[in-house]
Amino acid sequence: MLELRPTCENCNKPLLPDSLEARICSYECTFCAACVDGILANVCPNCGGGFTPRPIRPARNWRGENFLGKDPASTRVKHRPVDAAAHARFVAALANTPPDKR
Ligand SMILES: [Zn+2]
Ligand SMILES: [Zn+2]
Repeated sequence: MLELRPTCENCNKPLLPDSLEARICSYECTFCAACVDGILANVCPNCGGGFTPRPIRPARNWRGENFLGKDPASTRVKHRPVDAAAHARFVAALANTPPDKR
């Protein structure tokens, strides 16, 4: 199940389960839209993959107990600020490979 992490890994901004600013990579690394679009250039610093908007888990029990009340968001903060200069070098290295070949 997707771990709904509570904050942006870079800037530690709170990202509530219904946040439209939360972005995740395929490993669930979680950042805010401002960091993804800004310093990360849509490249995950941990795996090199891209980001997508994080889906919102329903707050209400619409169907079959599949909702936040039963499966709440994570409260475990992962705050690992990115070294902007090192990340820029990583992005530059990846830029030689098209996104669908990485
Ligand atoms: Zn952020
Ligand atoms: Zn990642």
